[in-house]
Amino acid sequence: MPQTTDSPTRDISWTEASPHDCVVVGAGPAGSMAARAAAEGGASVLLIEEDWEIGVPLVCAEGVGKETLAQFVDVDPKWVASRVEGAIFVSPSGRRVRVNYPDAGYILERKVFDRDLAALAAAAGARVQVGLEAVGVSPGENGLHRVEVRRGDEKGTIEARLVIGADGFRSRVGRWAGLDTRLKPGEIHSCVQYLVAGADVEEHYPEFTAGREIAPGGYAWVFPKGRGTANVGVGISPVTAKQSALEYLERFLDQRFPGAMRLERMVGGVPAKPQERLVGNGLLLVGDAARVADPISGAGIINALASGTMAGQIAAAALREGDVSGRRLAAYQDEWERTIGKDIRFRARIRDVFLKLTDADFEAILDVGSKLFAKGDVRSIDPYQVVRAIITSSPRFLKIARHLLQ
Ligand SMILES: Cc1cc2nc3c(=O)[nH]c(=O)nc-3n(C[C@H](O)[C@H](O)[C@H](O)COP(=O)(O)OP(=O)(O)OC[C@H]3O[C@@H](n4cnc5c(N)ncnc54)[C@H](O)[C@@H]3O)c2cc1C
Repeated sequence: MPQTTDSPTRDISWTEASPHDCVVVGAGPAGSMAARAAAEGGASVLLIEEDWEIGVPLVCAEGVGKETLAQFVDVDPKWVASRVEGAIFVSPSGRRVRVNYPDAGYILERKVFDRDLAALAAAAGARVQVGLEAVGVSPGENGLHRVEVRRGDEKGTIEARLVIGADGFRSRVGRWAGLDTRLKPGEIHSCVQYLVAGADVEEHYPEFTAGREIAPGGYAWVFPKGRGTANVGVGISPVTAKQSALEYLERFLDQRFPGAMRLERMVGGVPAKPQERLVGNGLLLVGDAARVADPISGAGIINALASGTMAGQIAAAALREGDVSGRRLAAYQDEWERTIGKDIRFRARIRDVFLKLTDADFEAILDVGSKLFAKGDVRSIDPYQVVRAIITSSPRFLKIARHLLQ
């Protein structure tokens, strides 16, 4: 519902409903999944979202893997803008390699997807409140957290035994709870994207272009969404870039799709360095707030769903046992490290290498790829075969691989 200037709501039920077992701050994919899992585990849950419309503003290219998504939710066809059947990799000089990967994934309609995930949390028993911003979290009496909230001119306090911070990559919840959530500029993908129309895209084949002059420390993407529309964006490392992400994107768009119409612009960041601590006393961080996105690609939807689900389940169990101490909640961090966190940390090291690759390196990698992918689809190729082929293609890559294994 759009916010109007003359109607700051008089609904104060959110203060009356306190205390809750669990308050989840942020109704992105991570928060909604955490709220859903905690509610399914028997907790009384309040999910709050500062914006008046869940999923808006959108800050995402909306690409997601089909099999991994199905591990967390039954996919509703209305979430899907377009199917992904492969990918096109483009070198700095413009050479292209097309890889077939039938049924690989989707380009989502995240505005619909995010809203439905919140609805699923509500169906599981969570209360959902939009237009309610958390402005502080502090320890209160009887082991309860006090979550200070604001809605327009109104202020209130919600008490909760446990708080889940799902408030995105600039998470304030973690900071309020005393966790060090600072990031240096080099530890962020700085991104900007247009939804464009009238673009001559190859439907079902997202396109990725690397190059120091195109997207230093990152890449440019084209994610087709059907009917000649596409999410076209760049992600860069602010420390290696000479210009703003927007300047790189404008140049890329003018060259790649001259005449394409810009329908919507979005600016955002993705953390590229994993968060050290994900828990505190009565506190869990999930999704971008916990910095669980892939440090290389910046993809974070699936790990938002995974971390939200895991945290919600462990929160519910801890609440049932009456122990929400940091020591009890460390089970979430341990489980995360064991299953996914280790891989993210390794990928963060690979990103360090990625940042050092030259345009000549990208051209050489594309050469290897074009030979490997010349025949058949990618499913018939073992990913380790690809890595092995790249590493053994030049002494420079061998040296890099040795560095990674140290
Ligand atoms: C340009 C760009 C393109 C991307 N493309 C992809 C992609 O193609 N595929 C992919 O997998 N990932 C992609 N990502 C990453 C992905 O969007 C995120 O990893 C994902 O949205 C994380 O989900 P989340 O729930 O943790 O956080 P978010 O989706 O950021 O949700 C956080 C929510 O918390 C709310 N909030 C914040 N503070 C408060 C507060 N104080 N009180 C109440 N509510 C609050 C916000 O309004 C927001 O709704 C992209 C990111 C960017 C920036």
